[in-house]
Amino acid sequence: LSTWANVPAGPPDPILGITEAFKADKDPRKINLGVGAYRDDQGKPYVLNAVKKAEDLIASTNPDKEYLGIIGLPEFTKNATLLAYGADSVPLKAGSVAATQTLSGTGALRIGGTFLGRFFPTAKVIYLPTPSWGNHTPIFRDSGLEVRQYRYFDKKTVGLDFAGLKEDIQNAPEGAIVLLHACAHNPTGVDPTPAQWKEISDLVKEKKLFPFFDMAYQGFASGNTTKDAFAVRYFVEQGHQIALAQSFAKNMGLYGERVGAFSLVAANPEEKARVESQLKIIVRPMYSNPPLHGARIANAILANKDLYKEWESEVELMANRIISMRDRLHDLLTSTHNTPGEWGHIKSQIGMFSFTGLTPTQTKALAEKAHIYMTADGRISMAGLNGGNINYFAESVSKAVK
Ligand code: PMP
Repeated sequence: LSTWANVPAGPPDPILGITEAFKADKDPRKINLGVGAYRDDQGKPYVLNAVKKAEDLIASTNPDKEYLGIIGLPEFTKNATLLAYGADSVPLKAGSVAATQTLSGTGALRIGGTFLGRFFPTAKVIYLPTPSWGNHTPIFRDSGLEVRQYRYFDKKTVGLDFAGLKEDIQNAPEGAIVLLHACAHNPTGVDPTPAQWKEISDLVKEKKLFPFFDMAYQGFASGNTTKDAFAVRYFVEQGHQIALAQSFAKNMGLYGERVGAFSLVAANPEEKARVESQLKIIVRPMYSNPPLHGARIANAILANKDLYKEWESEVELMANRIISMRDRLHDLLTSTHNTPGEWGHIKSQIGMFSFTGLTPTQTKALAEKAHIYMTADGRISMAGLNGGNINYFAESVSKAVK
């Protein structure tokens, strides 16, 4: 008998499974709207010019390949936190923000989850929005936290269920953790307004909850990194000691380089040093230290004025292409194809994804009849649409709905 005879087969990953079905489909009209990776208007992956130039700049210094320290490249974490918290951030200026380089956003959430699992002093319970990115639940469960939900999305309005959100946060036990998508909520594309963020901040304070921000899309929502950091910076200004997971996968197109950061606002530099010492104790037995190349690229862009400028314009370009696809899709669905139903949400939603409102039956029909692949919940990656396929997509959706 094999040692592993009793290992049960696990279910396939819901998102990566779509890519497999897409690859196996031989129809030339096929479209993959499952995976959340940016594509240019030719449907091709896009390597940013700022990234190419950063790589040239790095190569020209003929750098070594020595190990990084346990918490990564110090200049990188300094510049990454500066990007998120802003140059005026009081705790950042005071040297009170503990930070570590991580394996992209996922690694940041996991290191943060593990730290909270070990040291969070009150309820080791984390509240996630319904729905949330599918990996949040396993990440936090594996980190040793109890996962619960708060209402977020209203199917009827295809918008934010703000009343439900407030009620559920109000009813959370005092001293629990609440996960907030900083911008471009995945999968719904629905974000609170600045006024709603202010109410959420008050509520979180009143209930003594701990805000954990997941910021995987800074710059990708509006095209502007400052605008997209509004919620994070507002909470910090209000005196919240936030935790923050950052990813450079989307906004720098560094998906496979795995570059991100986890940070925590501490009360003072002495407390920050204690927190960082524990982050090191979490990282060391897990993967010892993070990879070098992506952090060097991100840091070169963040530290160099010209590269930073070019990057900012490229982030804007990516965000604007997505926004233009939203407008086109809305017009095609309504004016051109007279699709039954209300489609305003296609334009009002923000970021990489749109929750179309298509049902599991309709998404199944789209895959089988039109070779169009998306998650069963009707989420599409807007970045998968382009001038060459958007009309076919709109026409197919229209048929599926009629
Ligand atoms: N959080 C959210 C909400 C995401 O959508 C993603 C990417 N799909 C991540 C975190 C992490 O991605 P990565 O590990 O590639 O940075």
